[in-house]
Amino acid sequence: MRYNALQILRQGLTGHKGWKPAWRKADPKPEYDIIIVGGGGHGLATAHYLAKTFKHHKVAVLEKGWIGGGNVGRNTTIIRSNYMLHENEGFYEFSLKLWENQERELNYNSMVSQRGIINLYHSDPQRDAYVRRGNAMALNGADPVLLDQAALRKMCPFLNFDNARFPIKGGLMQPRGGTVRHDAVAWGYARSADQQGVDIIENCEVTGFIINDGICSGVETSRGQIKASKIGVAVAGSSSRVMSMAGMRLPMESHVLQAFVSEGLKPLIPGVITYGAGHFYVSQSDKGGLVFGGDIDGYNSYAQRGNLPVVEDVCEGGVSLMPMIGKARLLRMWGGIMDMSMDGSPIIDKTHIDGLYFNGGWCYGGFKATPASGYCFAQLIATDMPHETAKHYRMDRFSRGLMIDEKGQGAQPNLH
Ligand SMILES: Cc1cc2nc3c(=O)[nH]c(=O)nc-3n(C[C@H](O)[C@H](O)[C@H](O)COP(=O)(O)OP(=O)(O)OC[C@H]3O[C@@H](n4cnc5c(N)ncnc54)[C@H](O)[C@@H]3O)c2cc1C
Repeated sequence: MRYNALQILRQGLTGHKGWKPAWRKADPKPEYDIIIVGGGGHGLATAHYLAKTFKHHKVAVLEKGWIGGGNVGRNTTIIRSNYMLHENEGFYEFSLKLWENQERELNYNSMVSQRGIINLYHSDPQRDAYVRRGNAMALNGADPVLLDQAALRKMCPFLNFDNARFPIKGGLMQPRGGTVRHDAVAWGYARSADQQGVDIIENCEVTGFIINDGICSGVETSRGQIKASKIGVAVAGSSSRVMSMAGMRLPMESHVLQAFVSEGLKPLIPGVITYGAGHFYVSQSDKGGLVFGGDIDGYNSYAQRGNLPVVEDVCEGGVSLMPMIGKARLLRMWGGIMDMSMDGSPIIDKTHIDGLYFNGGWCYGGFKATPASGYCFAQLIATDMPHETAKHYRMDRFSRGLMIDEKGQGAQPNLH
């Protein structure tokens, strides 16, 4: 069933009885050509591109819970391509271009909203660093705009500009950045993959890999053994747990990141704003809630809930930036598990086990990467050749000393 205005009218006139489920509840078959482990944004986008672009239709996505229950439905919905390092910027710009056509490609309203993102700067050296980043973005075809204080005041008069401790001097803006409704992304890719013959199998946990003589030929699951000649793993925060079942130890740690939503307010924030003097980022949803987040909880965990010290820290950041939000009430909050890599950049690569491929290490920036990650992972699995924009995301870059350390923090996963 295609979604269009006529369909809405028809269904509206007939009591909405004709809508079909967006995807089938498939049962596992004994064998597929390709299995994707993890039904998050990245796994589902991979399945979509495997079918659509690389013409592989005997594909299954195995999800231990339900579609949209992982980080894809828990993030703060920000998309952007404002990176500095060449190895990252090309990839994220490719992703932003895919977002720009994503709703048409999927025939699904995922509410892609390019309202712009502004990174605030608070000192002259910080402005200079942003100028450098803006130039690096421009070299990769992105759209940086440097705002001085007067221009920023016009756009966001509510910011706490003259705070003596952290005066706001301007911002680096990317007008094409913005937000996308997160769980709709999972549903849109699931629907499209399903329409192209992919089996999406929920409540099916992978509990082991079938590996003989260095070749992976299938998986053990809570719903029985399933064979395939190629298996791609995209399980985000569960990466180290799942890959340990194949005997691999990843250069990665899992940490909790929390997100927050306030009660509904009148339209206030034009796009996404990130604080340059603390870790705080905020946008406003269509329902009026302020959607915001900050630092990860600094300890290793696989729990999808966080602790109060970070709640306090994030709210302090928010109030310091926009004192008037101190009056707003917090409506809800939740946590997701982040796959924090040693250099803050992801991995999309083959493993040393034939037939086993890995996608992970997205830290807390993997939502905006969803389309490109899916495309590049699908290409790697289908052709055994990396996509041009993802060729640096190799597993062995840590042992070869070729870190992609965007923040310059060193091998300190909880700081990236
Ligand atoms: C609070 C928060 C805010 C964030 N904000 C942003 C943001 O604004 N912008 C941005 O770009 N990124 C953001 N992120 C990061 C982004 O959400 C993640 O990097 C990205 O969603 C990870 O990829 P995914 O969607 O495939 O993960 P997930 O949706 O977590 O998918 C992985 C799936 O694997 C499944 N799985 C795990 N183990 C198994 C198993 N053994 N068998 C089968 N299935 C298994 C899980 O159930 C899960 O559904 C944020 C994350 C959080 C938590």
